[in-house]
Amino acid sequence: MKTSEIEAYLDSLFPNPHCELLYTKDYELLIAIVLSAQCTDKRVNMVTSVLFSKYPSLKQLKEAPISDLEEIIHPVGSFRKKAVYVKEIASILVDDYDGVVPKEREKLEKFPGVGRKTVNVFLSEFYQIPAIGVDTHVERISKRLGLASSKDDVLQVEKKLQRKFKKEVWGKRHLQMVLFGRYHCKAVKPECYHCAFVEICKEKKKNLK
Ligand code: SF4
Repeated sequence: MKTSEIEAYLDSLFPNPHCELLYTKDYELLIAIVLSAQCTDKRVNMVTSVLFSKYPSLKQLKEAPISDLEEIIHPVGSFRKKAVYVKEIASILVDDYDGVVPKEREKLEKFPGVGRKTVNVFLSEFYQIPAIGVDTHVERISKRLGLASSKDDVLQVEKKLQRKFKKEVWGKRHLQMVLFGRYHCKAVKPECYHCAFVEICKEKKKNLK
């Protein structure tokens, strides 16, 4: 199967993919992505609706008691670390960026709790800058479909996907692969019986047993 056929199937499944994290402002999206590490978007949305209602500005988040942030953030896991990240991100944005999340990758990667994947997802979603965030779903699917090797690290997966997909659809492919991984090609018990990739998939034999 050619890459174009994989893309056509993803387009048929998810013609208009969108980010499932809820946000209304740039910093809300950045914080939501940071909180989403090792957690579902659904749970992050529940937490951020409380967090951003109680502390509706960056200044208020910066000044929020850490114990209260921990209590609110608790459901998403790693809550102590993530509470510190939220407070520090708010402080840096207020103190150094006039409350606006920067577009520059080098600046964003210096924020606490913000790695390459978070930067890619943020830039692609908020600023429509072409980028492919390789999260657990994108990595798993890339390897199952042979778009990357099983030994590749996330950066190698990202580089290979960048070469295979046209730049203008990087963000869309990222979203489609996330949704495909979330609802069809799950880590455990993927829905192989209904999958058009069954002929090329490296995992199907195991999963169809
Ligand atoms: Fe995923 Fe199964 Fe499809 Fe392979 S055949 S891509 S494991 S759903």
